[in-house]
Amino acid sequence: AARRAERDWYWFNNLASAPVDQRLGLWREIQVAMEEDQFYLVFQPVFDLQSNQANSAEVLLRWRHPEKGLISPAVFIPFAEQTGLVKRIDQWVLEAVARQLRSWQEQGLSMPLLAINLSGISFLRADLEQHLRTTFHGDTGLLSHLVLELTEGVLIEDMDRIQLQVEQVRQLGVKVAIDDFGTGYSSLSRIRNLPIDHIKIDQSFIEDIVSNPQCTKIVEAIMLMAHGLRLQVIAEGVEHEDQLHLLRQMGCDLVQGYLLSHPLERREFETMLQQDLEI
Ligand code: C2E
Ligand code: CA
Ligand code: CA
Ligand code: CA
Repeated sequence: AARRAERDWYWFNNLASAPVDQRLGLWREIQVAMEEDQFYLVFQPVFDLQSNQANSAEVLLRWRHPEKGLISPAVFIPFAEQTGLVKRIDQWVLEAVARQLRSWQEQGLSMPLLAINLSGISFLRADLEQHLRTTFHGDTGLLSHLVLELTEGVLIEDMDRIQLQVEQVRQLGVKVAIDDFGTGYSSLSRIRNLPIDHIKIDQSFIEDIVSNPQCTKIVEAIMLMAHGLRLQVIAEGVEHEDQLHLLRQMGCDLVQGYLLSHPLERREFETMLQQDLEI
């Protein structure tokens, strides 16, 4: 009961203005979802425009609620971020990814890179490196298949601290990508000292890349500067042939979107890996 009171206090303190019973319900349901395996992962292939093959995928969380059906992470992740619950969700995802990679390794499947979305609060924890080591049982072979996607929002924090965190995880062989690039505060000048691997241009830019000449220019400029910094560029939200065509012309490195593949359930994704699908 004391623990519950503490939780409720946390809750009210942070979401005093929310319709309380409804949101309190959601908070409890997320806990249950983790305990009762209502969460699962889907994998959206990311294609390399040099080889035309997918050797990586973004891991996306899905919640199959016993009564309400599928609930989108776009609904519960922002909520979980507000309440701090996202730290536990991120941990759930990390553990599931470690298990998945190990299982593919044991099956002898060609192992893809898996990119996970890590919330700012999880990325900034002081023991991040140790935490990753523990979760992956110190297996650096597996860790070298992990990519952490950080949203631009993280970059408003103290840059020295961020730099330290990035350096530490990269020492484990983990790669780092900046997600939703172009929507937040960061500029390429802000990330120029960060030893990151990829930037992902936000899908809002890709959506208008063909129809809006200003958008075309912005994406072109991001691409040029990123390549100048030796960063690989991923375009996400690619839905149409003409977008893909333009991105190829611009020298984009990697693409992801419904045109190429929707997020796939594990079995479908495994089949795709075995077939060496090309675009
Ligand atoms: P995000 O990281 O920007 O992920 C990309 C979203 O775009 C995904 O939505 C994906 O399904 C969707 N998408 C992929 N291709 C296309 C396309 O061609 N067109 C359009 N319109 N959309 C496309 P999803 O799975 O609903 O995830 C929404 C957001 O929830 C993610 O945005 C991410 O911020 C968050 N999220 C998802 N999974 C996790 C997770 O495991 N942990 C955390 N912390 N956040 C997550
Ligand atoms: Ca992402
Ligand atoms: Ca994104
Ligand atoms: Ca997003």
